[in-house]
Amino acid sequence: MMKNNNSYADLEAALRIDCEKCSGLCCVALYCMKTDGFPENKEAGVPCRHLRPDFRCSIHALLEKKKMKGCLAYDCFGAGQKVTQIYGNENWQTHPDKASEIFQTFMIVRKLYQMAWYLLEAWSVVADEHFSAAIAALLAENLQITAGAPAAMRLADIADYQTRVNQVLKKSSAQLVAKSSGQTNRKDFLGKNFKKTNLDGQDFSMALLIAANLTGCSLRRSNFLGADLRDANIKDTDLREAVFLTQMQINAAQGNGKTQLPPRLLRPSNWPD
Ligand code: SF4
Ligand code: SF4
Repeated sequence: MMKNNNSYADLEAALRIDCEKCSGLCCVALYCMKTDGFPENKEAGVPCRHLRPDFRCSIHALLEKKKMKGCLAYDCFGAGQKVTQIYGNENWQTHPDKASEIFQTFMIVRKLYQMAWYLLEAWSVVADEHFSAAIAALLAENLQITAGAPAAMRLADIADYQTRVNQVLKKSSAQLVAKSSGQTNRKDFLGKNFKKTNLDGQDFSMALLIAANLTGCSLRRSNFLGADLRDANIKDTDLREAVFLTQMQINAAQGNGKTQLPPRLLRPSNWPD
């Protein structure tokens, strides 16, 4: 049974991307490779040639047709709009002298928000009160750092925080496995056909599920922490109770109108009905 996340409703909303309120940060700040499904190889800090001056993508409607899987899958966990808001009227276009600082802040907030996403998921599945309190404390610390000014964020010991978050995620992941049955130590499921298999409680953490067929599978409390779901077939699949799934994993997979997602995740607009 998953806990109700109502107490974290504001944080959940903050972790959802809102590209309309962003200065196109991912399309500039990131290093991109054509082989990863981006239009070109580009250095970090260089705007993509398809980014318009109003921060919109000039080929947005064609991303699917052009097989820009990197662009379609990317998710910043809400860091883009958060950092755009922090700098207000100053952005990387109007204030090129501040561009590298803005990009650095984006990378820090993205990392922290990604950890917040996983911590929220861990908090929702962990039953032990003390452990829940430890996760809540890490979430509070995350909120405190990201509420600060960029200079304070840069001084925060993010590496130490990440180590503590990783320990908690490892422990919550291990608890999930201990409670479930049918786990396997195998992690390479490249192209494997699981069609309509009962995979409840399966530990897929860090597994390679590229192009695997999960259509019609039962995946209650299956753990997808860090799994690679690129082109995995999740059509007609019920993922409502799957754990540690991110929007990026879902965006990279192949679903349809009958794919059922956990409440925190959105159906990609390019999926067929
Ligand atoms: S950084 Fe995030 S919010 Fe901004 S355009 Fe990219 S995905 Fe959208
Ligand atoms: S193609 Fe569009 S979405 Fe992809 S990096 Fe360029 S501007 Fe961004």
